[in-house]
Amino acid sequence: MIFIDAARVHELLSYGECIPVMRDAMARLSAGETEQMLRQILPVDQGRMFGVMAGTMGPGGAWGSKLVSVTPERSDPSIPSHQGVVILFDPETGAPACQVEAGALTAIRTASASAMATDVLARGDARELAILGTGEQAHHHALAMLEVRKISNIRIWGRTAAKAEALCQTLSQETGTPVKACSSVEDAVSGADIICTVTAARDPILPASCVKPGAHINLVGSSFDGPREINDDLVAASRFFADSSASVRAQGAELRHALKTGAVDETHLIGEIGEVILGKIAGRLHADDVTIYNSLGHIIQDIAAAAFIFEKGRAGT
Ligand code: NDP
Repeated sequence: MIFIDAARVHELLSYGECIPVMRDAMARLSAGETEQMLRQILPVDQGRMFGVMAGTMGPGGAWGSKLVSVTPERSDPSIPSHQGVVILFDPETGAPACQVEAGALTAIRTASASAMATDVLARGDARELAILGTGEQAHHHALAMLEVRKISNIRIWGRTAAKAEALCQTLSQETGTPVKACSSVEDAVSGADIICTVTAARDPILPASCVKPGAHINLVGSSFDGPREINDDLVAASRFFADSSASVRAQGAELRHALKTGAVDETHLIGEIGEVILGKIAGRLHADDVTIYNSLGHIIQDIAAAAFIFEKGRAGT
């Protein structure tokens, strides 16, 4: 069994490669070709979690599992929030074929899945990007969004101003796109066509009143039925899509809260991004629609991305 470390994941998996892999994976999920277990999350201590995920791409496809620790609060800022492994099995022999470092894989596949959803749901003329959060996902989301729209400028908000400034510096050097740090969420999202919420906030940070008609939101930061990044009114004001309807119905904090308070009913979750890709349901209907892609993260994304880099590495490309 080979091990593909984080550096090699970055070498083998660009956003440009991963975005179509995510598109295909989500279409296969929504076509019912894949099998997966609902993610299990075991609380550890000090707010840390241990996640166990398993799935198969379907007949002839790879299968595997992800074991991941999530550490929202870290004394050492160089430690990533997500660490672990994705183990991929050979569909021919049933033998474990490779282990992939899960932090880098998760960072790239999550941002690429959001970029893919943005491509599907955002207006074609979307230009202004707001990123709420300053961590690993914030960085990757900013870069991945540039792959799917002609972004004219990026605005970053984070609760620690110095981190927002530092990310601006990095992104500005990496992309050549104008990037500005904002001292409030309102300043960051005002006029934004695409908003990515990628924080570990426990309570809503993005008021509905600040969101421009026609905006697309990638709602990414909460992966279980606990923390919420947006409130019921914004959920209710949106056309709301999931990576996986089963996951979001069972574990999506924002939708579940809005259902509990009666702000929306069961029909509010329109369906999966894969169903939009397959033409089973409509995505954006009107230029002024606010669309939301709720990303909880899915094992099929991990397996598809891991299989892609395994094959690419094996082919020596
Ligand atoms: P990081 O720890 O690198 O960054 C977390 C960010 O959230 C930082 O900007 C941090 O600010 C901010 N933050 C933490 N607490 C709060 C708060 N109470 N209010 C506002 N901002 C806050 O994490 P990642 O970038 O790796 O992940 C971001 C979020 O996305 C996490 O919640 C993670 O679980 C989730 N995630 C979701 C995935 C999916 O597939 N949907 C996949 C991977 C991650 P500061 O540094 O100043 O404390």
